Order: sequence, then C-alpha cells, then structure tokens
Amino acid sequence: MLTNIAGYPRIGSQRELKKACENYWAGKISLERLELTARQLRKENWTLLQEAGIDLISSNDFSYYDQVLDMSMTVGVIPSRFQALRDTFANPNCPELYFALARGYQKNNFDITALEMTKWFDTNYHYLVPEFESRQQYALHNPKCVQEFKEALSHGITTKPVLIGPVTFILSGKIKDAELSHDTLLEKLLPVYIQLLTALQEAGATWVQLDEPSLVTDLEPAAKALYDTAYTAIRAALPDLKILLATYFGGLEDNTELALQLPVSALHIDLVRAPEQLDTILADLPANKLLSLGVVDGRNIWKNDYNASLALIRKAIAQIGEDRLLLGTSCSLLHVPYDLDAETALSPEIKQWMAFAKQKVGEVVALNRIIAGDTTLLADNEKAMNSRKTSASIHLPAVKDRLKQVTTADTQRHSTFAHRQLLQHAVLQLPLFPTTTIGSFPQTTEIRQLRADLKKGVISQETYDAEIRSAITDTIYRQENLGLDVLVHGEFERNDMVEYFGEQLDGFTFTQNGWVQSYGTRCVKPPVIFGDVQRPRPMTVAWSRYAQSLTNKPVKGMLTGPITILQWSFVRNDQPRMDTAFQLALAIRDEVKDLEDAGITVIQVDEPALREGLPLRKALRAAYLEDAVKAFRLAVCTVDDATQVHTHMCYAEFNDIIEHIAAMDADVITIETSRSQMELLEAFAHFRYPNETGPGVYDIHSPRVPTVKEMEALLEKAAQLLPARNIWVNPDCGLKTRKWAETEAALRNMVTAAKNARIKQTVSC
Ligand code: GLN
Ligand code: ZN
Repeated sequence: MLTNIAGYPRIGSQRELKKACENYWAGKISLERLELTARQLRKENWTLLQEAGIDLISSNDFSYYDQVLDMSMTVGVIPSRFQALRDTFANPNCPELYFALARGYQKNNFDITALEMTKWFDTNYHYLVPEFESRQQYALHNPKCVQEFKEALSHGITTKPVLIGPVTFILSGKIKDAELSHDTLLEKLLPVYIQLLTALQEAGATWVQLDEPSLVTDLEPAAKALYDTAYTAIRAALPDLKILLATYFGGLEDNTELALQLPVSALHIDLVRAPEQLDTILADLPANKLLSLGVVDGRNIWKNDYNASLALIRKAIAQIGEDRLLLGTSCSLLHVPYDLDAETALSPEIKQWMAFAKQKVGEVVALNRIIAGDTTLLADNEKAMNSRKTSASIHLPAVKDRLKQVTTADTQRHSTFAHRQLLQHAVLQLPLFPTTTIGSFPQTTEIRQLRADLKKGVISQETYDAEIRSAITDTIYRQENLGLDVLVHGEFERNDMVEYFGEQLDGFTFTQNGWVQSYGTRCVKPPVIFGDVQRPRPMTVAWSRYAQSLTNKPVKGMLTGPITILQWSFVRNDQPRMDTAFQLALAIRDEVKDLEDAGITVIQVDEPALREGLPLRKALRAAYLEDAVKAFRLAVCTVDDATQVHTHMCYAEFNDIIEHIAAMDADVITIETSRSQMELLEAFAHFRYPNETGPGVYDIHSPRVPTVKEMEALLEKAAQLLPARNIWVNPDCGLKTRKWAETEAALRNMVTAAKNARIKQTVSC
C-alpha cells in the first residue's frame, strides 16, 4: 500500500516558527531570516517523512499563520477594507498584507480590523474566516503552493500539494453581499482552482490532496450540488491529475453516496472517528477509485492499537486488494505535538502508551510492514496495549464504582430555584443589581515570576504562599474599596484554569514540549488525561478560606467545570469521553462540598468551553448537551439550597443552546454579552431564562475603560428583558490580562452604574 500523511505540524519542534514570526513582527529580525526559518522547517518535515518511507508527503501544509488564510490569499479573497492598504504595497503578496489580514493593521494612519477567527470544525485550531464580497476579482494571486512544491523538488522530494477543497473553502467563509450566492461564488472560484491545479501539474505534481472535511457535516442539497459542480469541472479540466479527496473528523454518513461518485482518483476516510463507515464504503466504492484508510489518530496523542487497525486494513484488502489502498493518518497531524522522544520527564509507563506526530508516521509505516509480513513489529505494540488495559495507575476501582453508583438525585438540587433563591437572598443580603467579577484579577509580571520561581525552586513554598496571601489580601481590600458585593480571591495561584486543576488531580500528566497550534503563533500545551480521575485532596479551599477570613462580604469559590477541563485536554481514548467527564465532575463535586464546609456561600464553576464540545452532526448534539449538563449538575448538586451556585460562559453564540444552559440550573450565570450589545439577552427573554443572570456589561478584551453611562444603558436594556431581581452586574470575563489601573477604573464605573440602576429601579417601583 502507498503510505499517506495528510499534513504535518509546522510550528517547529521548539516552536521556531512562533518565535521567528513574533520577532519579525517586533522588527527584531528581517523577512529573510523569517523565510529562512520557514524553509528549514519545511525541509526538516519533508526529510523526516521521506526517511521514514512515506510515499505521499504533503506540501503546502506549511503556513505562516493559517492554511485557510493561505487559501484566501492564493485566490485573492481579500476584503475591501484592506484595499487602500494593499494599494500602498508594491507587491500584493507581501507578508505585510498577509499578517494584516490575520492580525489587523493599526499603523501609518490605518486602523483595519483583522479577519474573524473561528474554530476549525470540532478542533481547538482556529482559522481566519474568508470574507466573500461580490466585488472581489479572483485570480491566482499567490503562487505559494506551487513554490513550495518546487522547493521540495529541489530537495529531491516529489510532494503531494494540499489545498482546502473549493466547497469546504466556500462553506467555511462568510458571504458579505446579498447578491453573492454559493453558486456564483463557486463559478468565480473554480477557474482559479483549475488554474492552480494546472500549474501544480505543470510543475510535476502527480497527486494533489483537496481537503473537504465539510463532507462529514450535515449538508443542504444545495451544498451537495456544489460538490458535483466543482469536482466534475476539475476532472474535466485535468483528466490526468490524481486528486485525493480528503475527508476527516467524522464519517460521511448521508454524504457517502455523494463522496463516492465524485470523479476523483482516491477518497480518504477517517477510520478513527468513524470506523463503522468502512463496510459501506468498501461495498460501494467505484472500481476505478482508490481508498485511503485513515487509521492512525491525528487528533490525539495515544499509540495506535495495531491489532484494531490491522483488522480494518485486512478487511479492506480482502475486498478491494492492496493495490487500491493507501494507508495513513486520520487527518493532518497539525493537531498533535511533534515528538514524544523529546519528553524526558514523562513516567515510562505512561510514555509507552503515547505517540506524537513523528511516532505516528512510524506507526503508518509499521502497519504497512506488518501487512507485508514483518509481524515482529507487533509484539511491543501488543505489550503496550495490554498494559494499558490493566495498569493500576489507569484503573482505580473506587472511581469506577463511585461513578456506577451515581443516581439522578446526585444531579439535582434539593429544591426548586424559586425556593433556593429566597434562602440565598436571606443569607447573602445582597442589594438589587449585585456586583461581582468573573474570578481572575490582573496577573502581573511579579505574580507570574512568583509561580516560575516556585517551580524552579528559587523560592520556598512558604515564601510563595505568603506572597500569594498578600496578593489576595490586597485584592480583597481593593474590591471592598470599590464597593463590589460578591468578592473573589483573584486566582493568582493559577497559571491556567485547566492546568491548575489537572496538576492536582489523579489521572493527569503533563508534557514538557507537547505544544499544538491554537491560532497563528499561539500554541497550547494541553494536559493529558490518561487514567481514572480523582481528587486526592482539596485544591482551592485554603485560598478561598483565607480570602473569606479577610472580609464580611461573601467571597466566591472559583472552580473549572468538567466539560471545560475535558475540552482543553488530550483525553484518554480507552473509555467513552463522557465517562471521563463524569469522573471529572465527581472530583469537582468533592471540591464544591469542601468549599461549602469551609463556609463559602457562593461557588462558581466555570464552563466556558461547554459549547465547544458540540458534535459536528446535529443529530448528536442533544445527547451531548444532555450529558454535558448532567456532568455540570453532578459537579455542583451536592450543596445546600442556601449555597449559591454560579457558572460562567464566554465566546458568545449561546442562543441556540439556551435551553440546555437553563437546564444546568445554576443559580446565577454570568455570560459574555457586551460585544454583542446584549443580543444574547433577547434569547434569554424569549425563552424566559428562569434563574439569575449577569450579562457582562463591559468587554475585558480591551484596555478601554467603559463609561458609567454606557453600562447603565446596558443594564436598562437588561431590565426591560429580565426581572430586575434576577440581574447581576459584572464584566464579560476574567480580568487576568488587564492592568490594575484600567481594571479599577472600569470596576469603579461599573459599581456606579449598578448603584444608579438601583436608584432608578426603586423610583420606578
Ligand atoms: N474564572 C476564570 C477567570 O476569571 C474564567 C476564565 C474564562 O472564562 N475563560 O479568569
Ligand atoms: Zn470567560
């Protein structure tokens, strides 16, 4: 079988590209230096894949920022707000324009906002959303793809260029003008795609991969028709070019027939997410078509289970023969870190279960060799798989038993919200429009230094604790002076809202270099959940208790919810994801209980990533939401009626899941709304959100200090839509990225706005 890798990470094993880009932006290195780094990274990848013995090695999977932006630049999808800027550059392909689209441009009298960014399907990778305007003229603007193909050729490597397929490209963008439709857009783009593919063929390419992950989503008939039009035209223009149509992140399901009859040379399918699709596809695959089996997981860091993969591969061989098969990763390896060999601190037991990009390439090759007869490669893999099934560090019977014993009562508060509200108001004695914040306060350089020093052993635990206590004291007094009603301790001891908890829970481990690209030069190093999760000891209680001891006002306990921890980690694949979520929920539940026992009367469990877990297919969404809500409720429904449970969410677009948010039954939800001018609240009003709500009254993403007036106006709007006694006053999100001066100024205005709103409310009563 030919081996095929759909794409490789590009940030560099030491994040070289991130550093080079940021240095270039800061004017510290020249464009030539940046390009040199890029060329070196590409060469390293190609060489590695070639030496490993991969047949179809990708090119154009490199990007300075984002592959969807590259596609926009290639064909000239450039919004008109960039036109004047573009006219100032002699070379329309200059990186200045490219980075301006990605990051916005605020200099030389320009003030242009960047392209919008959104998640790439259900990954944590964010792409820049193409903006299609009717005035745009598409042409082959940027020959990047052809250049990189030739660059690889100069190293003696014939690559398979990868492009975002035309339909996924169109569907992932936004149409800005009413007169433009998907059909007319495709009509305009197709000649440019054909021109590009022709150029690639002329440069010597035999295979080209067109990524069409939209084929694993619910498609309208009109979108299905786009596929027919696009691929029929491409085939007609380029009868000899081998097109590999790549689908991933799920199964083709109702799009199977469509995908199978498109006139392409090979179809790539994701057999990690959707192994069950193999049977139908094998049965219906047209005789002239090859099939690429994506058996090695491109989305997770676990070692491949060779026997499971071999079963799929052998079934395919039995039905269509090796000659018609390609073997590879489920999707691009962009979503996994570079190299497990670079991890020197992982426990050897856990490490033997893992594989990063480089190891996954080795797995594809090994599977192919096993099929060819080299079964010696199986033993080690079987040993690792077996040890994973039985390891005492993964399997904690007590955790599994506890989960089995969870009952419906464990996921329900003792009384209705109406009853709880009376009790809580009696205990908390809060004014109308109570004010609070979302949890974190500015993470100054000194605070960050403190954590770094503790980690390095430069300061003792005692010194560290004393310094954190002093930061908490300072923050409590500042909040009292500002006149806030429900205070927070400030989260100074936390590097990150997931890592902080992961470090204290059993079942988690951390890598030293496990970076993956989140967007542009931003990389994240997700924790690894390898085993059953439990909480050996309290995680936040001492800090919360200390903060509460300083004031008579209630101090909110602050936790991260199970779904957010799940979403932002690499999750074990040897049990259903939701089992892991429920285990996390039980661990958080223990913490909630301990906080309550320590005298904390308000407890917030953040779930900003709740929406991120939504499955791509609509049919699966209700079940996911039901489980996600259940996990949240399991985490919090241990408290007395008088204890007030808060939750917080951000990243907007909650309108379509509002009923599920309500089903979480938090007493108070604080939520991002200020950037959308409280648009969200209309949904809340429409649906009659039953509990209390804190619609964010100002955007924390900007240093701008909001005026009393504008926040008062937002509160007025909220009071028209919701009962006044249910409205809280708070910023949009945590304040850790802000400076103290702007934070205090903004909060002072916010408290004044709340006071004014109270006066108005009493007068109107
Ligand atoms: N409590 C967290 C904070 O204030 C919430 C962060 C978030 O919503 N992303 O920073
Ligand atoms: Zn937030």
